[in-house]
Amino acid sequence: MSVVEKPDDAACHIPWLRMMISTGGTVHVCCYNVRPLGHVPPQTFEEVWEGDEFNALRKSIVDQTFDRGCTDSCPIVSSRGILKSSISSSGLHYERR
Ligand code: SF4
Repeated sequence: MSVVEKPDDAACHIPWLRMMISTGGTVHVCCYNVRPLGHVPPQTFEEVWEGDEFNALRKSIVDQTFDRGCTDSCPIVSSRGILKSSISSSGLHYERR
């Protein structure tokens, strides 16, 4: 398994930086996208991170279809990719591409 490559100009960097895991073990990419990407356990972190669901989400970011659970509540989706994301110790940030 491997991770879909991220282009430098990707509209969103989050699927290459982090995952969210609920207390029940369900994995999501971010707070705007609740589509399950896996479950830990029985899957391992690596199996989810490199799995088909996570990579399909990454592809939807690369081709800007945003059709794998990304919703208009996300500033990147509602701007149709005009914004890009970054993440720092103070949180998730958006700026014009
Ligand atoms: S585009 Fe928005 S909803 Fe989709 S992964 Fe990035 S931050 Fe989350």
